[in-house]
Amino acid sequence: MTTAPAHALTNADIANRLTTLARLLAAQKENPFKIKAYLKAARTVREMGESVEALVREDADLTAYPGIGDAIAGAIAEIVRTGTLGKLEKLRADASPELLELSAYPRLDPQQVLRAYKKLKVSTVAELRDKLESGAVESVLGSRLAQHIRQGLNESHAMLLYRADTLCESVEKFLLTRCGARRVEAAGAYRRRVEVVDELVFLVDAPEFPSVVSRFEHYGGHAALVDQNPQSACFAHSSGIGIRLEAASHADWGTRLVECTGSAAHLELLGKFRHILAPEEDELYRRLNLAVIPPEIREGRDEVSLARAGRLPKLVSVAEIRGDLHAHSIASDGSNTIEQMAAAARARGYEYIGITDHSQSLKIARGVSIEDLLKQLRFIDHLNAKLKGIRVLKSSEVDILADGSLDYPDEILRELDYTVCSIHSRFGLGRNEQTERIMRAMDNPYFTVLGHATGRLLLKRPGYEIDIDRLIEHARQSGRAFEINCSPDRLDLSAENARLAKEAGVRIVISTDAHSTRELALIRYGVEQARRAGLEAREIGNCLPGK
Ligand SMILES: [Zn+2]
Ligand SMILES: [Zn+2]
Repeated sequence: MTTAPAHALTNADIANRLTTLARLLAAQKENPFKIKAYLKAARTVREMGESVEALVREDADLTAYPGIGDAIAGAIAEIVRTGTLGKLEKLRADASPELLELSAYPRLDPQQVLRAYKKLKVSTVAELRDKLESGAVESVLGSRLAQHIRQGLNESHAMLLYRADTLCESVEKFLLTRCGARRVEAAGAYRRRVEVVDELVFLVDAPEFPSVVSRFEHYGGHAALVDQNPQSACFAHSSGIGIRLEAASHADWGTRLVECTGSAAHLELLGKFRHILAPEEDELYRRLNLAVIPPEIREGRDEVSLARAGRLPKLVSVAEIRGDLHAHSIASDGSNTIEQMAAAARARGYEYIGITDHSQSLKIARGVSIEDLLKQLRFIDHLNAKLKGIRVLKSSEVDILADGSLDYPDEILRELDYTVCSIHSRFGLGRNEQTERIMRAMDNPYFTVLGHATGRLLLKRPGYEIDIDRLIEHARQSGRAFEINCSPDRLDLSAENARLAKEAGVRIVISTDAHSTRELALIRYGVEQARRAGLEAREIGNCLPGK
């Protein structure tokens, strides 16, 4: 009989097997819903504090966790009991060596990369890396694929903010319930709401910090301790992100929270503060003769001098949002009806919601024909006559076509309350051409808001190339607005670009681009970026009453 080692299977081991299975299924063109289900379950397992192995051995019900149904719970139990998964072993046996190697890089699309292998005449990841460095990938396959490969191969430890939200919740709970912590707060870039974070920092008040550290090694089955001193400990989480615990006591909690939250530049501007023992942050700022600086702007720009002069901006809050100006319905690629979207907006306390289904040319998102759009507008008129407490605005997410013209004729655009105009095609245009394309669109009298201005998808693809300064200037002259798209993998405009727009006096709107009633809740992510840009409610279009 053999005894199992202390951490026989960590949550990461289990998550990795589920991810590999999903990648190999994808390469076989299996049902995409099934693939997504495995990836979602893998994520849940990776973010759990409890040891999944221990749960299985205790016969706990895994289907109580999000994204884990009966079939996947069965697969997890099989992994724990046998160390592997029959289905996975079979796929592995049938896979080519190239595919097998690629399945270890979950961010790479194996089909695209295998095609790239053919064109580049290579067959291993090492050779692919060489071709990437020599510039051959870019010259043979273009910059978009090169970018995809670069991001897929680089062992980035970065995580999107909304993913970090789930992980932080799980870590906090584990620290409080399993490690003897009295008080825990997530600090660092996460608390400043930076859109992509590469380390999670937790301030921990506990009777004995070293015992918290040793107990935290059991997080997720096993968390590797990378570095440790009396005040702090660093762990490597299996997602790649670092987790750092920082010790604090009741007496210096406020001081330590300030120290662990601000960027290096912010802390520099604060000067000498570490000797002041403040139990709460507010007290520390007070003793420094500063107004309390919200975490989102602790970046070392002008916030400390503004706090000293009592002139900090009154940053916009979710409660000040009066409506959403970018939302899809089942008329294009959304999953709820206009009535459902309106009811959900009213339940949030909004005064209005703009329905912006895709325009006619965007076939992959079921773009709306002129005839159907006119029907939708008449329907909204009827609906508004009946609805109480919410007004549905008539709009469209109008494609900006290759030549900068808009995707509906003026006599149709004229019927809308406003437009959101976006680019969904020809991302590869040069910087000048792309910028001028958007400027021509802005010259259309019915252009109101520029949707997701750069088209970036965080950690997936960079935006298309534009000259943001020229666009902001053109928007200022022509009275056009920019959107902060709240979709957590867009957050576009970025806080940096939104700050430039603000400084130029260009109006910003914060829009969820919701494709379901549930996604209206994403508004907080856009509001956070607006706060990072220093924006106040009076500068935000949808903090104003509807017309
Ligand atoms: Zn769009
Ligand atoms: Zn949209």
